[in-house]
Amino acid sequence: MTRKAYLTLLASLFLAACQPTSTPESQDSTLVVITGATVIDGVSSTPIENAVIVIEGDTIQAIGSAGSVEVPPGAQRVDASGKTIIPGIFNLHAHVARSEGMESDDQFYNRERIQRDANRYLYYGITHMVSLGIDQEPMIGFLEDQRAGRTGGARLYSAGYGFAAKDGWIPGNPNLNRPTTPDEARQLVQELVQERQPDVIKIWVDDRLGELPKLTPELYGAIIEEAHSQGIKVMAHMYYLEDTKELIRRGVDGLAHSVRDQEVDDEFLRLAKENGVTQVATLVGHSSRLAYADGPDFLDDPALPVLFPPLVLETVSGQEYQANLANSPNLASTREVYATAAKNLAKVAAAGIPIAVGTDSGGPGRFQGLWEHREMELMVKAGLTPMQAIQAATANGAKFLGLEDQYGTLEPGKIADLIILNADPLEDIRNTRNIDEVWMNGERVNRADLPISTAPPTAQERETS
Ligand SMILES: [Zn+2]
Repeated sequence: MTRKAYLTLLASLFLAACQPTSTPESQDSTLVVITGATVIDGVSSTPIENAVIVIEGDTIQAIGSAGSVEVPPGAQRVDASGKTIIPGIFNLHAHVARSEGMESDDQFYNRERIQRDANRYLYYGITHMVSLGIDQEPMIGFLEDQRAGRTGGARLYSAGYGFAAKDGWIPGNPNLNRPTTPDEARQLVQELVQERQPDVIKIWVDDRLGELPKLTPELYGAIIEEAHSQGIKVMAHMYYLEDTKELIRRGVDGLAHSVRDQEVDDEFLRLAKENGVTQVATLVGHSSRLAYADGPDFLDDPALPVLFPPLVLETVSGQEYQANLANSPNLASTREVYATAAKNLAKVAAAGIPIAVGTDSGGPGRFQGLWEHREMELMVKAGLTPMQAIQAATANGAKFLGLEDQYGTLEPGKIADLIILNADPLEDIRNTRNIDEVWMNGERVNRADLPISTAPPTAQERETS
C-alpha cells in the first residue's frame, strides 16, 4: 500500500468511527436513508435539492425532496448535506487487461488483470463497462463468476471477439472473426453467440486511411441481421461519413466513434435519428496524444497514485514523453481529426440523437476510470451541457445495454448504484471526479480496499510479446 493510500484508509476509518449512528437495537440494517444532498437522477432536467433517498437492500424505495418522502423509522441515516449525487457511470467502449506498466499487448490478457481493471473502473464510480471486441478466454470465467456474485469490481460486459475484414483492422490479430461471404458471416455470429453469449457485437469498418481492406456492406449487413435475429445489438468502429450512413441503413445500433473524415450532414442526422442510433464519440480516445502534448491538467488527480504504478505516472509526467508527442509529425492531423469529431458530436447532440460515453481507456496513460470522467469534460467542451454529459454517462448507457429497468437513473425500483460527489458537476463537470463515496447495490464500496494488482509482466509474458 502506498503511503497516500494508507493515509486515505486511516482517514476513512477515523471518519467511520466518528459517524453518528442510531443505536444498534433500533436499526434496520437493510434500510438506509441518504439525506441532504442535491441529486441529479439521470432523467430530470433539474436536480432534486435537499433530497431524501430511501434504500432497502439493494433497491431505491423512494426518492424526492425532503418533506415529500417519508423516512422509515429505524433506517440507518447517512448525512450527505452539501454533496451532489449522480448515478453510477456507464462506459460503452473500452478494452480490459491489455496493459501492464507502459506496455500494451494481447499477451498480458489474464484473469487477474481483468479484475484489476474492473476495480480501477469501480474506484472512479464506473459501475458498468463494455469491453468491446477483443476479449480472450479468461473473460468467460470472469463473467460467470461476476454474474453469480462471486467477484466484484465494475460490472463487465463483453463483445467476445468482434468482426473485421480479412487482412483488415487490427492487423495480425488472429482471433477476430473475418468472414468472406455473407453466409460465413451469419455462421460466425451464431458460433459466437453459442460460445460466448456476447452482450453486444462489435464490427470494425475502417481501412486506416486506405491502408487496409474493410468489411463490405454485404458482410456487415449479414452480421447485423444475424445479430438482431439473436436479439443482440451491434456497435461499429467507423471513421468515414459514407460508411457510417450505410451502416445505419443496414441497422447498426451504436457508433463507437464520431465520424471523423468530414462534418456530418443532414442525411446522416436524419438517418441516425430515424433509426434510433446511439452515438458514442470516444473523444478522449482520440485526444490522448493531444492531452499529453498540450500539457496534461489531470495528472494531479488524487486517485492516480492509488490505482497506477509510479513508473507509469513518472513516465507520462516526464518531459521526454510529452515532448515526443508534441513533436510527432502527425500531431497536426490528429488535431484536425479531433476537431471534426468534437464538432460532429455537437451536431449530433443538437439533433437530439442519444449520446453515450465511451473512452477506449486501458492503454498506458489512458487511465481507466479517470478517462470516463474526462470524456464528460470533453463532451462539455464540445458544446454539451453538464446535464447532457451526465445523462449520456448514465441513463443513455443503461438504455443502450437494455438495463434501464434496473440501472442508469436514481428512481424508485432501480438498483442503488450512485456516486456521492464533494462538489457540484453542473457548475464544473470536472467535479464528477471529486468523489466522496461510491455506492453499488445499495452498499458503500470500500474503495481503499479494492485490490489493484500492479504485478509486472512475467518472464514468459515478456518472452512471448
Ligand atoms: Zn476501441
